[in-house]
Amino acid sequence: MIYPSRLIEEAVNEISKLPGIGKKSALRLVLHLLKEPMHTTDKLCTALSKLRGQINYCEICHNISDHHICEICSSKHRDLSLVCVVEDMRDVIAIENTHQYNGLYHILGGVISPIERIGPAELNIESLLKRIADNSTIKEIILALSTTMEGDTTAYYITKKIKEQFSFITISTIARGVPLGGELEYADEITLGRSIVTRTTYQA
Ligand SMILES: [Zn+2]
Repeated sequence: MIYPSRLIEEAVNEISKLPGIGKKSALRLVLHLLKEPMHTTDKLCTALSKLRGQINYCEICHNISDHHICEICSSKHRDLSLVCVVEDMRDVIAIENTHQYNGLYHILGGVISPIERIGPAELNIESLLKRIADNSTIKEIILALSTTMEGDTTAYYITKKIKEQFSFITISTIARGVPLGGELEYADEITLGRSIVTRTTYQA
């Protein structure tokens, strides 16, 4: 694409780096922003730069948080005996929206994927084991990972690690009928909620 302005070209190039946005959509967004009053774009820029500069990851569960410890981990109303292990914060949002789960979370930051060169060390697995070791309140780990090969490998790895060190921990998994496969966030709330309530013991 040839642009009449280098400024437009630069903006289009940056915006089109976002997932799901091609050059055409990026150009449409840029032209839209140019029509908006100056303070609208200023607000957007401020929000984005604050997002990068000020956001924290919860020191306990690795969820994205405005503070060092997230609202879920610092809540006095959560069941401290349950920790649900998920891939990313989209899963937390999906599960929270079911209103069927009152335990805590642990965000792995992905799943084991040799193709993408993601090994156990790249994920928040060590911190999960440390968390179990440091908190005698934890009794059950619920694995809510994708039903892909990578998700299964990760579930198997975590289970093996926990069983080696903490034989007293129950490991369960959410029902297989849930359309997972990286799509936990899209599962309908009733199905997802029910699958958490009726979770079963994990079978490796
Ligand atoms: Zn947290």
